[in-house]
Amino acid sequence: MRFDVVTILPEMVQEALRHSILGRAITAGIVDVRVVDLRRYAEDRHRTTDDTPCGGGGGMIMKPEPIAKAVDAISAEHRPDRVILTDPQGELFSQRLAKELADEDHLAIVCGRYEGVDERVKEHVVTHMYSIGDYVLTGGELPALVMMDAVIRLLPGVLGNESAADAESFSECLLDYPQYTRPRMFRGWSVPEVLLNGNHAEIQRWRRCEQLSRTRARRPDLWDRFEPSDEDRRLLATGGEAPIVAPSAP
Ligand code: SAM
Repeated sequence: MRFDVVTILPEMVQEALRHSILGRAITAGIVDVRVVDLRRYAEDRHRTTDDTPCGGGGGMIMKPEPIAKAVDAISAEHRPDRVILTDPQGELFSQRLAKELADEDHLAIVCGRYEGVDERVKEHVVTHMYSIGDYVLTGGELPALVMMDAVIRLLPGVLGNESAADAESFSECLLDYPQYTRPRMFRGWSVPEVLLNGNHAEIQRWRRCEQLSRTRARRPDLWDRFEPSDEDRRLLATGGEAPIVAPSAP
């Protein structure tokens, strides 16, 4: 999979991609990330990428020409499946969207800065706009990295344990179950006994019950979209106790 990230702060993006799982995915060739310095596409000798807002007001606006030229140059070499603008007014990024993007071959991401980007870029140059949450950041580099991280870790071969991404939060509108590691006792706080007894069926039931009950308690918005099975309802009602098996007929 390929990403082209268009930014006035290429070092900020490059540095963040050097580490841990993302760095290894890039080194292994699972993902190809090209960081495009927007200033290369500026038209004046000062490499200007922003200008004052038409109609007045404070702050600076990112000019349309350098962004359009950068996207044209990327597309001339290989057409991206989506040209994404990071924008607080865009569709809210989610795990569902991360999975959708992980099925694409090539994404270009344009990072805004200052007071934002000339509206004509939104209307004519990019194909999608995504927000990472209802708050305003100073620029689109962190949102681009957030989205890339969420997508890249879903690509085959990136996570050591392939099943890890299936069980975690949001994979089916449920939060993940609680995780513990050694020591069994830490400052008087113990690991739940059920996780130590080696009974895998019981562990599965307990984990599922925790997922259900904490999603219902912490994220009513997710819970409303979740469709519990009969077994889920029974688990919630019994607090994850083992099913009562009817004695077999003599
Ligand atoms: N004036 C803009 C508004 O209120 O919608 C905010 C501009 S923000 C200071 C500068 C840039 O940061 C944006 O153009 C966008 O690229 C990026 N950005 C800020 N917050 C973001 C968010 N929650 N999600 C995605 N991108 C964001």
